[in-house]
Amino acid sequence: MGGDIGFRQHGYFFVTARKETLAGLKAAAELQRSLGVPTRILEGPSGGEAVVGEAARTRAGANPYEALFPGIRTEDLAGGSFCPLDGSADPSLVLDGYLRQAVRLGAKLITGCHVTSLTRPENDDSDKVSGVQTSAGPISAGTVILTAGPTMATLAATAGVDLPIRPYRRQVFVFWTPPELATGDPPLLVDLDTGWYAHREKGGALLMGGTDRDTAPGTSQAVDWPGLDTVAAAALKRVPRLAEAGLVRAYVGIRALTPDFHAIVGRPGGLSGILVAGGFSGHGFMHSPAIGEIIAAMALERPVPFEIDLAHLSPDRFDTQQVHAERAIF
Ligand SMILES: Cc1cc2nc3c(=O)[nH]c(=O)nc-3n(C[C@H](O)[C@H](O)[C@H](O)COP(=O)(O)OP(=O)(O)OC[C@H]3O[C@@H](n4cnc5c(N)ncnc54)[C@H](O)[C@@H]3O)c2cc1C
Repeated sequence: MGGDIGFRQHGYFFVTARKETLAGLKAAAELQRSLGVPTRILEGPSGGEAVVGEAARTRAGANPYEALFPGIRTEDLAGGSFCPLDGSADPSLVLDGYLRQAVRLGAKLITGCHVTSLTRPENDDSDKVSGVQTSAGPISAGTVILTAGPTMATLAATAGVDLPIRPYRRQVFVFWTPPELATGDPPLLVDLDTGWYAHREKGGALLMGGTDRDTAPGTSQAVDWPGLDTVAAAALKRVPRLAEAGLVRAYVGIRALTPDFHAIVGRPGGLSGILVAGGFSGHGFMHSPAIGEIIAAMALERPVPFEIDLAHLSPDRFDTQQVHAERAIF
């Protein structure tokens, strides 16, 4: 989109003390390798023969785990997986790039305008959405693309569409980085047994969280401070040295979860003039470029430019087919 997005390929590093979870990592790694993604498996407390890559080799380490993430406790580990190509980028820079490009290509961008409902043509009993009602007045459209995030089920309901997308709080605790992790670019570390993750922002703070998956639905953005105890316990269990990290602040974001933790993308059955894309269940940033291509192709009634079985994302799948829940959600 013509700008820097802060993309860094520091790798994603998953670990587990459970043999059955390691079996899942191995199956995933096999599939990924068959598609050209160089995911490596680490086995047992010593990590086996895993080669962990150039960045990690430059760090002192007794075994591959330690080389990847200094101070990690490994004696209970069944294994883990690491892919050096995985990374992170700055979502606000990505969003800014898309918006600028859209405007460059002729889109009209209206900000500070609240959509209050979807509208249907008056005196017309066809099942068509014909526009939206907004705080700045009505807007008519050949196709409305509903992408309103965690609370979009409320808007969808104004057109009679039932989307099982619910908002769930997710909090992030921000720590200053202990010196051992302040050099190089450590991978994002996830302990799959607790959900706990540690992710160092570029040259900066260490973000931790992931242990609050089971909070009740809601849109409160107040930090649940007792939740810090759970994060700290999971952190110290996996990387005892993190006792030296100091808390700076905490914040809350709202995730949009669906019953099978997969996004809902496409035309809701029985209605025309509307496409939906939401319920990304904590994966939406990663999926966004592909979802944009899919929605654009659907809106223009063109084939999607890559191979994907859209039935798994269909808005109507919960009524019509057996759903396959995503397991890598934490
Ligand atoms: C703490 C946290 C960490 C995450 N980490 C990751 C990660 O590591 N990787 C990853 O891939 N994903 C991650 N996610 C998930 C990711 O952020 C979401 O999946 C993604 O942002 C969803 O994009 P969206 O466009 O569907 O919704 P949003 O980003 O929520 O955008 C919806 C937009 O619609 C607007 N809107 C809503 N209602 C209205 C209305 N009535 N009128 C007008 N505008 C409206 C909102 O203001 C907002 O701008 C994380 C989420 C959280 C909360």
